[in-house]
Amino acid sequence: MKIVIVGGGMVGAVAALCAAKQGHQVHLIEAGAAPKVGEDWDIRISSIHQHNVQWLTQLGVFARLHDERHLPYTGLSVTSADGVQVDFEAATVGAEKLGEMIENNALQTALWELLAEFEQVNLCPQQRVVGLDLAAQTITTNEQDYSFDLLIAADGANSMVARLAGIGFRGWDYGWRCLLANVETEQAIPAATWEVFRPQQRGPFALLPLAANKACLIDYRREQEWLSLAEPAQIETALKEQFEPLIGHFTLEQFGHFPLRRQRALQYSLADKIVLVGDAAHSIHPLAGQGVNLGFADVQALFRLVQAHPLAAALQAYGRERTAANQQMMRAMDLIHFGFNSQHWLARVPIHLGLNMVKRQAWAQKLILKEAMGFNLPEA
Ligand SMILES: Cc1cc2nc3c(=O)[nH]c(=O)nc-3n(C[C@H](O)[C@H](O)[C@H](O)COP(=O)(O)OP(=O)(O)OC[C@H]3O[C@@H](n4cnc5c(N)ncnc54)[C@H](O)[C@@H]3O)c2cc1C
Repeated sequence: MKIVIVGGGMVGAVAALCAAKQGHQVHLIEAGAAPKVGEDWDIRISSIHQHNVQWLTQLGVFARLHDERHLPYTGLSVTSADGVQVDFEAATVGAEKLGEMIENNALQTALWELLAEFEQVNLCPQQRVVGLDLAAQTITTNEQDYSFDLLIAADGANSMVARLAGIGFRGWDYGWRCLLANVETEQAIPAATWEVFRPQQRGPFALLPLAANKACLIDYRREQEWLSLAEPAQIETALKEQFEPLIGHFTLEQFGHFPLRRQRALQYSLADKIVLVGDAAHSIHPLAGQGVNLGFADVQALFRLVQAHPLAAALQAYGRERTAANQQMMRAMDLIHFGFNSQHWLARVPIHLGLNMVKRQAWAQKLILKEAMGFNLPEA
């Protein structure tokens, strides 16, 4: 089959790899330059759960990752606005780690390097899709036309392919921003990620460990609050006030902030010829680090179904399976976002009681750990 994939980010590139491994002919079209690993950690980092780490290892991607741009993490902790803290450890379920912190750019680079080894893969960086003729099954970039049997849209949250195909979206802005900051610390950082919910609707703050003395700090605040701090020095002061009591002195290396938006496509496939994966189909609140994990699950489901069924049946089954799973995760993120940030006793009491119960019950911790490691998903 001739497959055109639009978007060579983490999800599009891994889709291209799966397609190539199934023997399809692939054109991977990416508006940006071919990825390459920079001098230091980029601020775009993803916690990839253990189920997907194993999958990436089987695909041969993990062995290609830049050694210093991923770190296994063994612990995970959540603290509610009322100060109830629950710690989860990989050892509780007999595992060595819960997953890996991976630089997005490093993962994308490893995928592109692998793809370059397949004769039937045509990598097309710096080409932007501008047109689609569904009847003729061709897609047009600023350079040329490509014909396809299957068009995979992996072009992110503002999917041009979905717009050209007339696929609608539903969603909203949360009105919050997520600030990401890479820092060098004086104290050693344990290989554990944590998140603390602040009282008075101030949003959570969190840490992703990157190396012995490096971390990515995450601070969710209302849109206006981050936008009003225009100077880097103001941001550094705000971060130090929040994080230094917990991690000691640090030096700010780089930062950036992103608006939070929830969005989902109203259909995942069209005319048995176009299919949406990753953020092109759904973008979710990043507070539990599930976005790209869901995108990888889309790709796993798509190629499992494409291999087993005629294309039309595969795409329909894909839409049913992934819409249900992704919406469930979106609702869970909303429950956490609105529940944990709520001042209302109706939200706070169950969270308080629930966290206290999880703290005491090993079976509940094991259940949550299995979810966090991605092991309640169907096999790829
Ligand atoms: C602050 C933050 C933290 C996050 N942390 C985590 C985490 O810890 N764990 C996790 O699982 N997820 C996390 N996510 C979510 C994760 O980053 C996204 O789900 C993931 O990047 C989506 O990958 P993608 O390949 O689908 O889309 P993208 O990364 O958006 O890639 C789309 C690609 O398509 C290309 N493109 C766009 N338009 C065109 C066009 N017209 N023609 C050609 N190419 C085009 C773009 O250049 C881009 O390379 C986080 C997100 C945010 C915002």
